[in-house]
Amino acid sequence: MQQFIVKILEAGFITHDVKRFVTERPPGYDFIPGQGTDVSVNTPEWKDIKRPFTFTGLKEWNYLEFMIKIYPEHNGVTKQLAMANSDSELIIRDVFGAIQYKEPGVFLAAGTGITPFIAIFRDLKKRKKLSGNKLIYSNKTSADVILKKELIKMFENDFINVITREHVIGFVGKRIDREFLIEKIQNFSQDFYVCGPEDFVSVITTHLKDLGATPESIIIEQ
Ligand SMILES: Cc1cc2nc3c(=O)[nH]c(=O)nc-3n(C[C@H](O)[C@H](O)[C@H](O)COP(=O)(O)OP(=O)(O)OC[C@H]3O[C@@H](n4cnc5c(N)ncnc54)[C@H](O)[C@@H]3O)c2cc1C
Repeated sequence: MQQFIVKILEAGFITHDVKRFVTERPPGYDFIPGQGTDVSVNTPEWKDIKRPFTFTGLKEWNYLEFMIKIYPEHNGVTKQLAMANSDSELIIRDVFGAIQYKEPGVFLAAGTGITPFIAIFRDLKKRKKLSGNKLIYSNKTSADVILKKELIKMFENDFINVITREHVIGFVGKRIDREFLIEKIQNFSQDFYVCGPEDFVSVITTHLKDLGATPESIIIEQ
């Protein structure tokens, strides 16, 4: 397994609990939009404790970008990342990930499950291939939505922002259930990209199959 020490170049919160990191990129370190790597904080106590995170930047950029939800109540890696700032070092490893873009379709994300899609959307936008795709993005509150402005700009009317725990004008205030999918999707013979907490992925995948999507058309992290 390859291992690279990279310096953090920039770090800052982009929502109340999601922190964005820009790091050095090792020469020749390549990835496909949607992929990620195992990350550690390079301190004597934490250097061997790794967690998976996804690249949100473009593969053409000469730095790497991550968007990471901090869990202060877990005494884990993200609590350490909350304290890491420019000049702290991270350790990154081989790239991995099953989520890759195939054909236009519907992206269904919950919370930080949007991260592999951010890299894919930015890549599609750059190549002028975003049209024909739709995003359904679910969060508990509007304060949890990552990169709202960028997503609205990219998707315009093809962005459905679902907020499950508050009623706010401009947001769809309900859970994504079977009826919601029928109403918003209609065509179940296209590709579906699903990412989020395990129960979100499992419920959505079950509904999609039930509504006619084939297993091959549903792209999820394995
Ligand atoms: C392929 C993949 C890509 C991912 N990409 C991203 C990404 O780009 N951005 C992102 O934000 N996340 C991403 N994640 C999720 C991310 O990996 C986890 O949020 C991260 O591992 C949490 O690490 P942690 O060490 O802080 O906490 P954990 O590993 O969840 O927990 C650390 C310790 O805290 C304790 N603990 C666990 N739950 C609780 C609790 N509820 N209360 C108190 N203590 C608890 C446990 O004892 C555990 O040992 C990805 C996950 C996968 C599988």
